Amino acid sequence: MPAESKPQVVIVGGGVIGVCCAYFLAKGGARVTVLERDEIGMGASYGNAGTIAPGHAPINKPGRVKQALRSLFDPLSPLYIAPRFDPALMRWLWAFSRHCHSRHLERSMGVLGPLGHATSALFENLVATEQLDCHYQRKGYYELYLSRHSLDAVGQELALLRSHGYRPEVLDGAALRLREPALSERVSGGIFYPEAATVNPHRFVCELAARARQYGVSFRSGSKVAEVLADGARVCGVRLANGDVIRADTVVLATGAYDAALVSKLGYRMPLQPAKGYHRDRVPRAGETPFLTQPCVLGERAVFCTPMDGFVRFAGTLEFSGVNHVIRRPRLEQLTRAASRYLDGMDEGESLSEWCGLRPCLPDGLPAIGPLPRYPRLFVATGHAMMGLTLGPVTGKLIADWILRGTPSMDVDDLRPDRF
Ligand SMILES: Cc1cc2nc3c(=O)[nH]c(=O)nc-3n(C[C@H](O)[C@H](O)[C@H](O)COP(=O)(O)OP(=O)(O)OC[C@H]3O[C@@H](n4cnc5c(N)ncnc54)[C@H](O)[C@@H]3O)c2cc1C
Repeated sequence: MPAESKPQVVIVGGGVIGVCCAYFLAKGGARVTVLERDEIGMGASYGNAGTIAPGHAPINKPGRVKQALRSLFDPLSPLYIAPRFDPALMRWLWAFSRHCHSRHLERSMGVLGPLGHATSALFENLVATEQLDCHYQRKGYYELYLSRHSLDAVGQELALLRSHGYRPEVLDGAALRLREPALSERVSGGIFYPEAATVNPHRFVCELAARARQYGVSFRSGSKVAEVLADGARVCGVRLANGDVIRADTVVLATGAYDAALVSKLGYRMPLQPAKGYHRDRVPRAGETPFLTQPCVLGERAVFCTPMDGFVRFAGTLEFSGVNHVIRRPRLEQLTRAASRYLDGMDEGESLSEWCGLRPCLPDGLPAIGPLPRYPRLFVATGHAMMGLTLGPVTGKLIADWILRGTPSMDVDDLRPDRF
């Protein structure tokens, strides 16, 4: 492609989504600049649970509202809504509740199912061909239940997953303990998801950014974008908070939970809510055996336990308290406290790292990926909620195909950013 006909793309946001878009765009021949207000990969993408969970359903499910109401009175619950007057959150919760039915779940899986298969293949390919040193391990994960009743309830959803080509396997407690000796006798059963994999998420983003740099991507940290510049329907760049103007013929907004205002200034609604999650990394104590070797999620508590290089990451909780990075100790401690009920010989122990990050959540539980109709060269890629790492590569590929070839490589009409 001659240099002058290569699209000149500015990507706003250097999380897993922005970096994946940058990589595929540059590899396809675009000239790409990533503008990040902070450091690359230090948002939600930094400390997530590192689980690549293809086929993962959105959190909107039948029965979710009742479950959420019950959990408000449970101190060990993963859900926390900070008491405050917030009309936008109220509207969001109302819209969320209206998407908690089986038709929406089936429709969501109609798009998330194929995206999951595509993203798995892209991860395999990226790690192998780019030799990404990110502790990638494809050995599935286990969803564990203390109560048989909870397991049976989840078991009913598996037919939908199977109809999309996934192969979840239901196991009893004894079979699980054979595969993972660290599990306590209290675990009554669980589900094995063989298609899943894990990575160290920060290393994945940094390694991919390094490869993208080799394909010519320019990364500018400390560059906060204040507005997108357009001349009528034609996007012509962005203005930074310091007043500098960066020219481009295409702009991708991958700002995670942080900057829905960039979209709303252009006349579109983007009802994003930040849902805070925490992690606690724990190293094994000397002589502590057995120590967790398989990635697990604690079904009743929605805590992910991911073995990484030399430590286990406990990650979870869903806190609605606005855009802030305040660590609430009880929320953080809930992670390891919950884990000690499922795993043997584990006390709360010492933490190697404690962290919180904001998941970008839209009320229908689906991401927003694609162009805004009034600005054909302005793309949005956000709202990935608890699936941003998982869907990072496929999102990057979709956006790159759209920009470079004029059409996405898969049918993602249900993810239109102007659907709200
Ligand atoms: C505890 C926890 C566990 C999770 N576990 C998993 C998991 O196991 N698997 C999974 O798939 N997902 C998981 N997730 C979700 C996943 O982390 C997110 O969906 C994903 O990181 C979102 O990526 P992003 O690039 O959209 O956002 P971010 O990583 O937050 O990146 C957005 C970037 O945009 C920058 N930015 C914002 N506004 C501007 C601006 N105006 N100008 C310039 N830069 C700007 C921000 O500084 C930030 O760096 C988890 C999340 C949490 C919190």
